Amino acid sequence: MRGGAEGETSASVVAPASAAGTSASASNASADAAEALRGPAGTPEDPAPSHRMRALLEELYPLPRSITGDGLRATLRVLRREVPGLTLHEVPSGTAAFDWTVPPEWNVRGARLVAPDGRVVADLTRHNLMLVNYSEPFRGRLPLAELRPRLHSLPDRPSAIPYRTSYYRRDWGFCLPHAELAALQGGTYEVEVDTTLAPGALTYAELVVPGRSRDEVLLSAHACHPSLANDNLSAVVVLAELARWLAGEGRRLTYRVLFAPGTIGTLVFLSRTPRARERVRHGLVLAGLGDDGPLAYKPTFRGDAAIDRAADLVLAELGPHVRLPFAPTGYDERQYASPGIRLPVGRLGRTPPGTYPEYHTSLDDLAFVKDASLAQALAALKRIVTVLEEDERLLSRAPYGEPQLGKRGLYEDTDTREQREALLWTLTMADGHSTFLDVAERSHLPTRELTEAKRRLERAGLVDRVGDDDDADQRH
Ligand code: ZN
Repeated sequence: MRGGAEGETSASVVAPASAAGTSASASNASADAAEALRGPAGTPEDPAPSHRMRALLEELYPLPRSITGDGLRATLRVLRREVPGLTLHEVPSGTAAFDWTVPPEWNVRGARLVAPDGRVVADLTRHNLMLVNYSEPFRGRLPLAELRPRLHSLPDRPSAIPYRTSYYRRDWGFCLPHAELAALQGGTYEVEVDTTLAPGALTYAELVVPGRSRDEVLLSAHACHPSLANDNLSAVVVLAELARWLAGEGRRLTYRVLFAPGTIGTLVFLSRTPRARERVRHGLVLAGLGDDGPLAYKPTFRGDAAIDRAADLVLAELGPHVRLPFAPTGYDERQYASPGIRLPVGRLGRTPPGTYPEYHTSLDDLAFVKDASLAQALAALKRIVTVLEEDERLLSRAPYGEPQLGKRGLYEDTDTREQREALLWTLTMADGHSTFLDVAERSHLPTRELTEAKRRLERAGLVDRVGDDDDADQRH
């Protein structure tokens, strides 16, 4: 990687920390796909989310994205069409963002490398990755020996085109499959890099879904990589679908959805919105949700925040998964974990960046992303959101002894053992101090049963919620 500060290229390889989550589970993903496809009413299966995610993936894949420029802008405009209320922000080149500065805007019209015999050996129209991202403009003729240091390939993956960037150091170059690079003949090559680097803007997109509480959940996905499907269009399309769902009904918490270029986009967002920063109680970076590896959760810096606990509970319910250790590497969770920001933001993904052969190459294509994986990730996120929504304290209105359930219709013959236990655990912990997460962890009962139990007890007038705008979340 040439002079870039992009996302996870500096990431160390992290090994799965959980013994449970060592193998991909396609069948599990399929089962959860069905869950994600269920419509709002929960009855007939609605294939729309899966179809929408695949269609969006295919539409966005060819756009020439970068950390600034029209490819990114076009991407965010497509997302605005899909996610009503999504707002695009333009931040001028030269704007400071903490220790960083928004670079000149980069745009590309075309790029070609022509061999001495007239054969086109690299062309942007063949693949966006063929040009080093953020290449400065250049036009000229060069002998192969001089050209060689500017040509990149992967000898261990000879059919793959590597992804290279040079955001903060002026440079240009081409990326080729190694088999093709190795076969290049000597002689003079014609180079055409038709790009512009000029004062412009960095674009990012934001949606706020207001809830009854000002406490916020921040959900972000980097949207800067060109023609790489898993990293990170997979998370972009899942987050778009999740945002539609979030906006669809009234919620307790406020949700802030962010599509931004990696590193610099997140830094720009954080530096411009100190108020929003203060309200973030839970957050997730979404990245790499489309491969067929198991879901992997990387915890917040603290490791015991409510989002960590909610993610652990939900992933355990969904089946094999991985819990990664915290590390100051990876994607934009690095920015959220920095000492001056320190927001409780975890990361949900699958196979960690840098640990699979398709990573940052042309092999990370549309076929590498699986519909069942996208659907399972969406289902997991909806459940995590549901747990966060439920995570209030309850106060029993009949705390002296066990209330008589039968006379309130809460002791039905049709109730399962789990349903009974969920009622009793919820009542026992309705002490005004314990949260939903406490009940779930203590009881080991499915979060869905506990949610249902909470509803039944509320309807029966046996428990009250302790305030919407209180400090319930502060303790995490
Ligand atoms: Zn990446």
